[in-house]
Amino acid sequence: MLEAMMAAEVGDDVFRADPTVNQLEAKAAALFGKEAALFCPSGTMTNQIAIKVHTNPLDELICDHFSHVYQYETGGYAFNSGVAVNLIQGTNGKITGLQVEAAIKPVFDWLPKSRLVVLENTCNKGGGSYYLLEEIKPIRAVCDRHGLGLHLDGARLFNALIETGESTLDYGKVFDTVSICLSKGLGAPVGSLLIGSADFIREARRFRKVMGGGMRQAGYLAAAGIYALDHHVTRLKEDHRRARDLASCLEELDWVENLRPVQSNILIFDVVGPTSAQDVLDQLKAKGIQASGFGPQTIRFVTHLDFDDRMLEIVCSTLKQVTGS
Ligand SMILES: *Cc1c(COP(=O)(O)O)cnc(C)c1O
Repeated sequence: MLEAMMAAEVGDDVFRADPTVNQLEAKAAALFGKEAALFCPSGTMTNQIAIKVHTNPLDELICDHFSHVYQYETGGYAFNSGVAVNLIQGTNGKITGLQVEAAIKPVFDWLPKSRLVVLENTCNKGGGSYYLLEEIKPIRAVCDRHGLGLHLDGARLFNALIETGESTLDYGKVFDTVSICLSKGLGAPVGSLLIGSADFIREARRFRKVMGGGMRQAGYLAAAGIYALDHHVTRLKEDHRRARDLASCLEELDWVENLRPVQSNILIFDVVGPTSAQDVLDQLKAKGIQASGFGPQTIRFVTHLDFDDRMLEIVCSTLKQVTGS
């Protein structure tokens, strides 16, 4: 990947004159059968731009209460777009067409206007849960009936697709816009893509500029993204296998409870007994193992490109030595 980056032909993407950025954007658009794509520095930016272009102030977006756009984007939907959020209590971050239909508000002067549905696949806070297209199609039908846009926060979409065997082209047909992250499981250092119609992406490009996301010589980063899409998708299966192996280790520990269903590369579990999540995280960190706190008693592990079988063994043996176990 580093060699591909160093060999990249670059230019000024503010003038759309960076051939490698153009190549990545064309590749992403083609992957989803869409007209255009936009390379951005982060997934927060692609989601925020999508919300901005889909909505007007005083609208609302509908999403699960675990959604990244609600939980982890600094309330940007309100700051950038002036919209409200209508939260659904889904199952492990997943919502249904019936729930969306019930959440849509009638048109009154005193209510925000329901305008956009955002789905997350896989869902981070849902423990890496994924949708089947058959579950998404009823949501699409509800959006069509009520004139709502449908955006996919697909930061980890390829983790879902590698499990379901479904295709990006099918996703392009169901969603108006899709965001994918190159810097998560795909292992690129920087970057996300927003994918949609030519009109949508033309507007999106203006908002990327006003957010300060227009970049020069970004082709060095785009080259990493092209490499990641070409080489790091099918190997995601390995991350999922290691996550399942890690789940087997966790299930044997008496201080671990309520391990959420492990469906992809994310494990979320609760810590019980006298110890706390922070205490366990500190003990792991002392052994060079990084994990995230997801609450006072909750921990998240993520398996990834740089996590191999030898490391898996070390993590399992270290977990057995955690005091309180
Ligand atoms: C990481 C992530 C994003 C984007 O986050 P950035 O840190 O801004 O790149 C968006 N959605 C989900 C579900 C994510 O996991």
